Amino acid sequence: MKRKLCALTLAALFSAASVFGSAAVYADPVTATGVGQGIDGDVVVEVTADESTIYDVVVTEQNETPGIGSVAVEQLPEEIVNQNSILVEGVSGATVTSDAIKAAVKEALTEAGLDPAAFEVEVAADAAEEKTDEELSCDVVIVGAGGAGLTAAARATEDGASVIVVEKMPMVGGNSLKATGGMNAAGTAFQEALGITDSGVQEFIEDTMNGGHQLNNIDLVTTLSEKSSEAVDWLASIGAELPKVAATGGTVHKYLHEPEDGSAVGSFLVEKLNAYCEQLGVNVMLNTTATRILVEDEAVCGVLAEDSGHNYTIKAKAVVLATGGFGANFDLMTQYDPSLANAVTTNHSGATGDGILMAQEIGADTVDMEQIQLHPTVYQETGLLVSESVRSMGGILVNAEGKRFCNDMSTRDAVSAAELEQPGAYAYIIFDQRIVDDLKSCQKYINSGLTVQADTYEDLAKEMGLDETAAANFVESMNTWNAAVAAGEDAEFGRNNGMDGDLSTAPFYAIKIAPGIHHTMGGVKIDTEAEVINIDGNPIPGLYAAGETTGGVHGGNRIGGNAVCDFVVFGRIAGTNAAAYAAGQE
Ligand code: ADP
Repeated sequence: MKRKLCALTLAALFSAASVFGSAAVYADPVTATGVGQGIDGDVVVEVTADESTIYDVVVTEQNETPGIGSVAVEQLPEEIVNQNSILVEGVSGATVTSDAIKAAVKEALTEAGLDPAAFEVEVAADAAEEKTDEELSCDVVIVGAGGAGLTAAARATEDGASVIVVEKMPMVGGNSLKATGGMNAAGTAFQEALGITDSGVQEFIEDTMNGGHQLNNIDLVTTLSEKSSEAVDWLASIGAELPKVAATGGTVHKYLHEPEDGSAVGSFLVEKLNAYCEQLGVNVMLNTTATRILVEDEAVCGVLAEDSGHNYTIKAKAVVLATGGFGANFDLMTQYDPSLANAVTTNHSGATGDGILMAQEIGADTVDMEQIQLHPTVYQETGLLVSESVRSMGGILVNAEGKRFCNDMSTRDAVSAAELEQPGAYAYIIFDQRIVDDLKSCQKYINSGLTVQADTYEDLAKEMGLDETAAANFVESMNTWNAAVAAGEDAEFGRNNGMDGDLSTAPFYAIKIAPGIHHTMGGVKIDTEAEVINIDGNPIPGLYAAGETTGGVHGGNRIGGNAVCDFVVFGRIAGTNAAAYAAGQE
């Protein structure tokens, strides 16, 4: 990276001290460039500073995730200047980008010939302000602005309800924003257009039940499947078309609907849903945490929430819980599965199960809380998930001995379990340039330094650090796999999907991966109308829930593509029913 070092023309302005003969004589401010490692390649900043003051920080190059890292890019430079420190608090939920910006500023200061230590000043926490009490009211208050919350907000508003959404993070999107694959749906017009006739509502129900080891609530699964096609149509009607259709892990059927341009489904849908909510005039309050559900005469009537300056009482006729799962709350997870204490998580930091805990406080029942999914392809150093699409497009897994060890397209729990039995309890995911060209997320893995690559299998084995025997095994595994694709039959492990192309297009890539916590299948108990059910088995009047905060849809294991289907289908149901319930209260 070429670096720039230049004196500012207005430097004299800042040397006033010497003009007036003061004892403190500062050098002229200089501008220099520094680089940090972001989530998707370099984050480059230009810093203007002298030995005591940072005057300006500008991010000049970055490719961070829209809606996550981009929030840090917008907010952090100003904060560094205001605090005159690189020890400012990073943007919650955007840690990698925040750290990259801070590292880049530090490098720029060094490059400018300044001492970064002079700017490593602890930032005093804002003096605890007296919070102002404020009362707000609406028809429907929605807690959480991930996929389920934004979908419910849009549907309730379409039906004439006034809606407030509270979101505790500085950005919308939650875990939904991180969904990389697609949305499962059955019996859609897009499937029909592609001539896919064997992947209908019934097959989708069966695959979801089988994937979940029959632990799922069959009524919820039937609703999920039956309503999935109209959910895809609704998304298309708001400009979020998912016309590409592929197979997902654990099934030969093709339900996985993806954006045309190969974008990750999560960021694509969150951006479209958020834009639609904005267009509808939905009030989304960021940095605002709901703390309690209010109940009067056994019906819910709003929530308490807070931000840095306010305690809000939000009165509402109906409440929708869309707070996501608890895959970032280790205290809660280890209550149900102590073996997870040292696992990495793919979850965003706001996935702490607040909605489940708040609902339990008012008598809601929960289901399947101990069902916590490990995803088999997680880069352990950062918790970044390598998309299932890499395998569904033809990628394979090999172990430290260079050998395949399972049907790589089996369900997530089966592949994770197989991986944990391999030497060192890790594996490599292997893909080639054909897949990189078709899947945008692969370029991100390359840019952020997750991959090793080479032009031959032999050289890739070296880059992976395999010993001689393992390297020979690896070359054989690759050749055997390519022959299996050509024959349309995987004699070794019986894989029967994601075999549309072989791995023969150089360069070849490998990422070292292992299982990581991904999805909490359990949560608040709901019925098919998204009503929250109490411990006596009855709906709690006015309380609805959707998405990862609920339990029962995925049973003992969620199949890839069903989280998105879940949040769209049940988000729509919750929004529709909450609006209707609110209208009935007038
Ligand atoms: P889903 O896929 O079910 O929509 P997500 O994880 O995408 O789940 O979204 C859940 C959202 O709820 C996240 O953005 C998270 O920050 C937000 N959230 C969680 N707890 C609270 C809370 N107490 N108050 C407000 N928002 C919350």
